[in-house]
Amino acid sequence: MRQLAAAREIHHGGITDTRTHAFDGSSRIVYTNSSPDTLREVFFHLYFNAFQPNSEMDMRSRTIADPDPRVQDRILKLKPEEQGRLTVNSLLQEGIPTRLEHRGTVLKVFLSSPILPRSTATFDLDFTGQVPKQIRRSGRDNAEGISYSMTQWYPKLAEYDHHGWHATPYVGREFHGVWGDFDVKLTLDSSFTIAATGVLQNPTQIGHGYGVKDNSVAAANGQLTWHFVAENVHDFAWSADPDYVHEQLQMPDGPLLHVFFQPSGAESVNNWHQLAAYMAKSFAFMSEHFGKYPWPQYSFAQGGDGGMEYPMLTLITGKRGLGSLVGVSVHESVHSWYYGALASNEGKYAWMDEGFTEYASSEAMRHLFGGVGDPHLDGYKGYFDLVKSGNDEPLSVHADHFLTNHAYGTSAYTKGEMFLHQLSTVIGDKTVHTGMLDLWNACAFKHPEPIDVKRVMEKRSGIELDWYFDEWINTTRTLDYTVSGIERTKDSVRVTLKRLGDQLMPVDVEVLFDDSSKAMVHVPLSLMLGEKANGSEAYSFTTVAPWTWTHFTYSFNVAVPKKRRVLSVAIDPTKRMADIARENDRLELPEGEKAINRE
Ligand SMILES: [Zn+2]
Repeated sequence: MRQLAAAREIHHGGITDTRTHAFDGSSRIVYTNSSPDTLREVFFHLYFNAFQPNSEMDMRSRTIADPDPRVQDRILKLKPEEQGRLTVNSLLQEGIPTRLEHRGTVLKVFLSSPILPRSTATFDLDFTGQVPKQIRRSGRDNAEGISYSMTQWYPKLAEYDHHGWHATPYVGREFHGVWGDFDVKLTLDSSFTIAATGVLQNPTQIGHGYGVKDNSVAAANGQLTWHFVAENVHDFAWSADPDYVHEQLQMPDGPLLHVFFQPSGAESVNNWHQLAAYMAKSFAFMSEHFGKYPWPQYSFAQGGDGGMEYPMLTLITGKRGLGSLVGVSVHESVHSWYYGALASNEGKYAWMDEGFTEYASSEAMRHLFGGVGDPHLDGYKGYFDLVKSGNDEPLSVHADHFLTNHAYGTSAYTKGEMFLHQLSTVIGDKTVHTGMLDLWNACAFKHPEPIDVKRVMEKRSGIELDWYFDEWINTTRTLDYTVSGIERTKDSVRVTLKRLGDQLMPVDVEVLFDDSSKAMVHVPLSLMLGEKANGSEAYSFTTVAPWTWTHFTYSFNVAVPKKRRVLSVAIDPTKRMADIARENDRLELPEGEKAINRE
């Protein structure tokens, strides 16, 4: 979580030719090394170089068992004028040239003098590039006709932290960046409207829906220079189109929301008109429950190839029904919390980025559209299917290195949400929610890691969670508990549970009586060295003695009220445990039978 590097970045770029899609730019980066280490080299990402035949991204897409249908062999087929390119022509360190090595999507810079611990260096870069035809996320002329989706477009400083450098070659998956302040000027043909990370500094010069244009300021050579400033972010993205309709909504106690779309069809236009009002509700909900949105603006722009999050900006495809448009916008904007401010290394911990976003957006969507039942349970089936397929891999695998897109996708999104929701059976649902606010307070504007989540959840609950984080993150062991017996004693029943799987969990048990009343019992795990507090769940429960983790069976007594008969005993009545064999979770007592014992 420690932040060992920071940058102040000034970029000036622009599309120099909207026919060839060539662009150039310059950057001045004031880089602070807060680490205890002396740096002799630095790395930059050059993402656009992925969009060239035989790049790592191309080859990976053509050899993986289940390629992303948006990529497949499309990179291989790009003609030279459709390919992506990004070249750093020179990089001066305090005015002195450095030696540069272009290695595909990574630039290695041999510094002219080492950067000492807790010191600062100034880099001046000069770069040229070509915007690729849209394949994934960035590029020109996306499927819906948006001219420029300019994401990961500039030489982007790689992050250095207590793990070392994170100069990961790009294969089309996750990102990670250095915290910084961005001052960006973009020069473009004046017909284009730009949506971007950051706050526009010259709205009266620009107009385009940002403010009332001062017509005494004329565009030079038919071009406009847009000046954006973004503080406390780790990336800067933008999109541009001459047909964008631009609408704004100022939230009373929140950011200014921008919406940019290309009008096509009455229904689509009507949906986009409604988007800002829905998003204001979502932002208010998120700010109340997961931490106050910290930036002054947020933009929803049509672009890209699905939905992708950037600081203060998302690019989403727009030809959707209202539910889908709002759904993708909620998900991407919730990334402002899990990615934007809680900036986990997405490559290493994609499940913290996508999974926690899924967790919070499930709740935001229920807030917007209502609905009964637990909104987090939908994804469990995806996990069970992955386990059945035999392709499951540990969450700790780096996002780029999952063997299938299936395992990567399910791990990042489904298992990530499940990890957090299942934790509520251990420490209580309300405790998880308070813990998520603790995580915000402890880690916003840092790079949280699993250990930071563990620490805040342990502190909030008073429960030891090493076993939960170790086993669920680093292994693919599965969970299977069963009710193996019910035995009648004088005025109670003795319930015996059995662990069949390798994965350990405390167990919630529901005893159902013949008058439909229920007794809820919580069986803690010995490794917890504590137990979830009554009041931490929506229902009340009785806690029995801990189940010693080395023991495969566990028995406890439940008092049976007078003249009542036990109908059934079930584990995990709320279905929050990822138990892969739910058919053995409930033991019914046949009519007339007073005791049963399967042993
Ligand atoms: Zn996402």
